[in-house]
Amino acid sequence: MRVAQLGSGTPEIAVVAGVHGDEPCGVRAVERLLDDRPTVERPVKLIVANEDALERQVRFIDEDLNRAFPGSPDAKTHEGSLAHELVSELEGCLTFSMHSTQSHADPFAIVNGVSETATDVVPQLPVTAMVETSNFADGRLFSTIDTIEVECGLQGSETAAENADRLTRAFLTAVDALPGDTVRRDLPVYRLTDVIRKDQADTYEVFVENFTAVEAGASFAAADGDEQVADESFYPVLMSPNGYRDVFGYAAEKVDVIETTASADATSD
Ligand SMILES: [Zn+2]
Repeated sequence: MRVAQLGSGTPEIAVVAGVHGDEPCGVRAVERLLDDRPTVERPVKLIVANEDALERQVRFIDEDLNRAFPGSPDAKTHEGSLAHELVSELEGCLTFSMHSTQSHADPFAIVNGVSETATDVVPQLPVTAMVETSNFADGRLFSTIDTIEVECGLQGSETAAENADRLTRAFLTAVDALPGDTVRRDLPVYRLTDVIRKDQADTYEVFVENFTAVEAGASFAAADGDEQVADESFYPVLMSPNGYRDVFGYAAEKVDVIETTASADATSD
């Protein structure tokens, strides 16, 4: 694990990259911050988490780090003890953690609950949606540390690396670590409700777009040509043919749209 800091003092803000070793976009964003060394108004901790997995370009060495929290100093796995070390570093920090996917090119945020912090910060990020995953939080970083995760784009793409850079700077601006203003946008909020499993097969297909409603009765995916039909309508999230070993992705419901309100200094009644 690599730990660095911008500014002096005890950080209450952290940026984490490389929780998954096959998602290099966030590492690029952190390295760029370390090269540029911008003047910060609050200290920021910068962490590259799973360096061993990044070096081997694999998701993890022994187990998925983002299912291993809070971890333990006596853990038998690389990620089990790394999770514990990461939690020690992040204690007391609002954390921004970058990921990438095989399912969706446009950046979106993932949170463990629609907290006041999430409602304030996430609409200031260049994302198209906020996904609340509290039903599936077990072992994830944000089950232990106050964290906003972002999916920066398609794994390994140049665009994901550029998005990671833009997202990090927007986050640091939103929390007043970097000077300047952010742009607030209306933000739809989705809650994950179900895992969409897939059977063992040679070929997988997905027929639907993430964040676009699938109607009841529609066929949305297939394993070896065997089509899966929606019992009820849902929004697909993190759906891809080959992104995960045994699931296509998740079903979500749309719970809210956070509307941009007038600026704080505007008078209202
Ligand atoms: Zn990831």
